[in-house]
Amino acid sequence: MGVEVFAVGGYGEAGGRNMTAVRVDDELVIFDCGMSLDKSLVFRKDFPKASTRELRDVKAIPDDTILRRYRSKAVAVALSHAHLDHIGAVPKLLFRYRCPVFGTRFTIELVKRDLENEERYAEEAEEVRMNLYAVEPGDEVQISRRLRLEFVPISHSIPGSVLPVLHTPYGAIVYACDFKFDDRQMIGYQPDYKRLKQLGKEGVLLLIPESLRVAEEIKTPSESVAREMVSDVLRFADEETEGIIVTTFSSHIERIQAIADTADRLGRRVVLAGRSLGKYGRVAEELGLLNLPAGARIYDKPDTIRRGLERACEEKEEYLLIVTGHQGEPGAVLTRMADDELPYRLTEQDGVIFSSSVIPSPINRSNRYKLETKLRLKGVKMFKDVHVSGHAGREDHRLLLRMLQPEFIVPAHGDPDMLAAYAELATQEGYEINTDLFLTLDGTRIELPI
Ligand SMILES: [Zn+2]
Repeated sequence: MGVEVFAVGGYGEAGGRNMTAVRVDDELVIFDCGMSLDKSLVFRKDFPKASTRELRDVKAIPDDTILRRYRSKAVAVALSHAHLDHIGAVPKLLFRYRCPVFGTRFTIELVKRDLENEERYAEEAEEVRMNLYAVEPGDEVQISRRLRLEFVPISHSIPGSVLPVLHTPYGAIVYACDFKFDDRQMIGYQPDYKRLKQLGKEGVLLLIPESLRVAEEIKTPSESVAREMVSDVLRFADEETEGIIVTTFSSHIERIQAIADTADRLGRRVVLAGRSLGKYGRVAEELGLLNLPAGARIYDKPDTIRRGLERACEEKEEYLLIVTGHQGEPGAVLTRMADDELPYRLTEQDGVIFSSSVIPSPINRSNRYKLETKLRLKGVKMFKDVHVSGHAGREDHRLLLRMLQPEFIVPAHGDPDMLAAYAELATQEGYEINTDLFLTLDGTRIELPI
């Protein structure tokens, strides 16, 4: 009996495989089911065909063997948001837990696409699909006689982000992966400060926060700052270059909207090119979250990408391209442009804008280095780091901690240094390691001393 936390994935590495399970007495609730972004690059094409075992062996998905004994006890899965490091392993793992899966509409729609693309476990994927439930921000769902899930709206770098809260007889468990405090988002939710404070008053048993940027002694700037940066750089590039190519996170709908709006004001036609831009862009359009200017096009299949780029190359100054490849991923549109594999020749008259940062992993660093070197050799003008992060800085974290005043903390979603940086903040706030603050790595479990 009691409450136990299972650190399934994302404990000890940045940007990957986020999955946490909580056992409350004899019931299990799972938070997120993500893939590792860089490890999956190895499997990029074959991911839908790959088996759970082979993906687990290369650490592309969480190793959930620690939960084997408890699979039949699972009563619900709560998905926090639609980033792949939080939902990417759903088609490979969740069929083992025959229980409802909750997320906001945008998240659920993207999970559906992944399940439809699944090849290896197509039948099982259909079963999971039947168990998906879309919730609205603020919703509360009774998942068993004693457990209730609540979805508190929060800001992050993708629409539909929530902090799932599990209400138990022992107090609330708040899963805060991922978030930042941003009051000036246009598309994503506003953080619900009032509800967070109220939860703190009602009694929070456990906080499971992300740790990616907690070492940075900042309050993460608002997306409105990124909008200004985008507008500033695009105006400059419009004067100084012929072709403008912007690359950003395909799931960052708010950013794509800002780029497209500025392009429209500059009188350039917007083209989105790339498979994942098509996936996220179309779902966002269907749900009315993304409103591209008249005449904008999305090209997400090899032949349409090719034709679209060919046309744009003939009148470069008439277009603004938003393309995949900000991390220099092999097979992405920008990478292939740099390799002369697509009919858009990059020259010293063109500008490439990186509206992103490098996700700090050795594979990304090496891919980006190669990409930038190729662009430099062509004389392309580069505009880097036109970006603000979607992750909480130290002061965002401190604010959350003070609002919630949790009894216990288990930092998640970070490499050992990041988890330790969270511990530094928590000890400043009066917590003590191994008393009410627990640092852990993948594959371990912690019984809360209650
Ligand atoms: Zn995220």
